Amino acid sequence: MFTKVKGTQDFLDLTLFKFFIDQSQRHFLNYDFTEIAVPILESVALFKRSLGEETDVVSKEMFIIKPAAESKDEICLRPEATASIVRAFVENSVQHAPWKVFTYGPMFRYERPQKGRYRQFHQVSVEVIGSKSIFQDAQLIKMFDRLFTEKCMLQNYVLQINFLGCPEDRKLFKEKLYKFLESKSDQICQKCLERKEKNILRVLDCKIETCQKNYEKAPKITDSLCGECSKEWQKLQETLEILSISFIINSKLVRGLDYYNKTVFEFVSDSLGAQSAFCAGGRYDNLVKEVGAKEDFPSVGAAIGIERMLLLLEEVQDKLSLPQPKVLTVIMPVEEAQNELALLVADELQAHNLCTEVMLEGDSFKSMMRKANKLGAKHVIILGEDEQKNGTLTIKNMLTGTQNVIPQSEVVKYLS
Ligand code: ATP
Ligand code: MG
Repeated sequence: MFTKVKGTQDFLDLTLFKFFIDQSQRHFLNYDFTEIAVPILESVALFKRSLGEETDVVSKEMFIIKPAAESKDEICLRPEATASIVRAFVENSVQHAPWKVFTYGPMFRYERPQKGRYRQFHQVSVEVIGSKSIFQDAQLIKMFDRLFTEKCMLQNYVLQINFLGCPEDRKLFKEKLYKFLESKSDQICQKCLERKEKNILRVLDCKIETCQKNYEKAPKITDSLCGECSKEWQKLQETLEILSISFIINSKLVRGLDYYNKTVFEFVSDSLGAQSAFCAGGRYDNLVKEVGAKEDFPSVGAAIGIERMLLLLEEVQDKLSLPQPKVLTVIMPVEEAQNELALLVADELQAHNLCTEVMLEGDSFKSMMRKANKLGAKHVIILGEDEQKNGTLTIKNMLTGTQNVIPQSEVVKYLS
């Protein structure tokens, strides 16, 4: 027997998945976003350049593909979509900014699989490319918040925000943090000691408790902001308040990827356990130029982890306006001689968008009835020798048990 590749999943019931995609699409369209699609295959170099070579995603988690015909470019399965969308913006010379787009699809990261963490997972990515206004960040966050509370009926979640400042602020902060870590180097984990040299901000979200205990007194990046960034940080908080968004400031929130600056945020829910973030994003003012644009296009965006969202939606399933269950009609030819007639009647119903199933396996009448019941049929149509001869059909309402004989030509009218 073949088994699925570690860290992947089969989705045998897509009801909630489709519900979420459908709600998101409609919601984002109201904010004038356009849905796009970008490839799942991208060059490795794109992610090295954008996410940073020292990030976990690039240094350890990439699925690199070797094409059968040897090629010079290294290709990978995308680990995220922001870099691809930015590449698409630059490569297609999109002329209007802000370019407000979203997409959804599978992402791939070689991680240790656990609840809410897979090697193939799905994200909805939303990006506003070419907008320097900090108010845009607030609007984006509001858009997500509304999606989660009003369309997804989620209550049990918190928005965390932080502000990483501009490159100069971060340079200053990294120096302060480095000094602080030097004084703690005998008390923090080996990984943090490595991160201190390679990707220093990441020490702050180390999962180890003793490290976290030590970092309680670590310098805060929001204390190292320049005048302009300070103002923007204040403005962001004020605007979130004006828009009635509750949030908490998490000075340890730095996000894993190199491209973030200024605003960073995560929506987290403690019903998800250790993998608590189900939507994460922030501002990336230098990425577009980094990927090849001639000028800067300050941008902001975020991604929603669909698997984690599904875990949250399962909890509130009863409150969701999920699509109505189908109203099924099952057609039962009593003998093989009625199979063609059964198909013709089914075709007529299906042509009128009436959900119809035909029993074609030659089962006994009793067994067909049992199956129809199991399928949850509302009506059963019985086609025997008599019905065939007389141009009629017998139709049974499975809820009430009532049975009628009607002309075949009236079946659509009867069921509609
Ligand atoms: P985490 O800290 O949970 O690893 P991340 O910072 O690596 O998250 P992002 O790259 O910001 O995650 O991706 C945005 C969202 O995508 C996350 O908040 C999460 O909901 C989801 N996500 C990320 N990695 C995975 C994964 N391996 N499996 C399932 N969902 C994931
Ligand atoms: Mg991760």
